[in-house]
Amino acid sequence: MTEARQPEAASPDSCAGAGHGDRLRRLDEAREHIIADVVPVTEREVVSLRDALGRVLASAVHSTVDVPSYRSSAMDGYALAGQDLPSSGAATFELVGRSLAGRPFAGRVGRGQCVRIMTGAPVPEAADTVVMQEQVCVDGNRVVIAAGQRVGQHVRPVGEDIHRGDLAIGAGTLLHPAQLGMLAAVGVGQVPVLRRVRVATFSTGDELRPVGEPLALGQIYDSNRYSLCGMLARLGLEVIDLGVVPDTREDTLRAFESAATRADAIVTSGGVSVGEADYVTETLERHGRIGFWKVAIKPGKPIAFGRFGSSYFFGLPGNPVAVMVTFYQLVQPALLTLMGAVHPGPPILVRAVCGTRLRKQPGRLEFQRGVLERRASGTYTVRSSGHQGSGVLHSMSEANCFIVLPLDQGDVEPGTEVEVQPFAGLV
Ligand code: AMP
Ligand code: MG
Repeated sequence: MTEARQPEAASPDSCAGAGHGDRLRRLDEAREHIIADVVPVTEREVVSLRDALGRVLASAVHSTVDVPSYRSSAMDGYALAGQDLPSSGAATFELVGRSLAGRPFAGRVGRGQCVRIMTGAPVPEAADTVVMQEQVCVDGNRVVIAAGQRVGQHVRPVGEDIHRGDLAIGAGTLLHPAQLGMLAAVGVGQVPVLRRVRVATFSTGDELRPVGEPLALGQIYDSNRYSLCGMLARLGLEVIDLGVVPDTREDTLRAFESAATRADAIVTSGGVSVGEADYVTETLERHGRIGFWKVAIKPGKPIAFGRFGSSYFFGLPGNPVAVMVTFYQLVQPALLTLMGAVHPGPPILVRAVCGTRLRKQPGRLEFQRGVLERRASGTYTVRSSGHQGSGVLHSMSEANCFIVLPLDQGDVEPGTEVEVQPFAGLV
């Protein structure tokens, strides 16, 4: 894998249009604009370590201890003074005790003596070297060790992991399992975190039915709310689900108001184009503040970003794949910023040989859905995961990556290298 540049590096003016809200923005520009506008939450609380997964650390944690706090063995073997090791032939040591993890040897290791020691156990006073158990011959209390060992080997020094006073974890770090372990290692059981960000979400559309109910002609199930709530919940946000809002001016305004009183941010789907029944952008323009609403990506061109009351507003398109693409590419970085998380940097991109022909017209940065596979040679191949329509959720649910095709790219022929953004990371 390679840390990659922004995929849409070319032609900054190629998509400029007229009017402030009308201009088609490049994705990186739109993302930077949103992030610059978002003010992170500052209110903090203290949670127990067990509840800290996915939270954002409010202030830096410095270690108050050395980890480990004692010299410990990195191997199962025998601890001794390195100066007693033979430079040739073999030497015999007298076995005088044992040091187990949690049950140290209380005495001192004298000249020509050794102590049985286990991984993680304290290295006794006057010993500085551990010889692996596989490399000795034991006969009663006599331990024979041949030349070839190194003085000081297999001993973890005090503070090998972290020293007292050192920075353990920086402020703004999103706490993943590794950081939970690190906090525990330095003895922090109560963790200062930023408060959870509340996000309200609703779907717009007269055609939408809740799952579990029969569908009449012209109706579909509201799938967006499930994928959206899933993406929001995975970010560790407090999700306020406001259901489906009918396509009327009044219902849309009421939903905006209800959302804004309860949430730091509002994320909606549908109703952002300029169709007859699209009231989201209009409501934002009239009663809130709109930042922009067109981004040169596919799927997902119409996106309303702005403010309603004191809430940040993200109006995503209605098409189910467009919802997910725009969320991951634009909304997620903004919400992470709002959460106070230190910005994770550009997305990881992998180069892969494309196995299928991809249709693409120049003009927008495209996120096609693909299946990435590792070949025996260690290189990657990717193929389309199916029909690429912005409403075709099946190709999204079959995919494990986005195939990121730059703005000015045309069709992709099989055998061409492309850049791919994998869905999954190890965190
Ligand atoms: P819109 O942006 O409201 O014009 O919607 C664009 C397309 O997305 C239409 O085909 C809608 O039926 C569909 N759509 C809108 N909202 C949802 C939703 N919540 N779940 C599934 N499809 C939706
Ligand atoms: Mg609609």
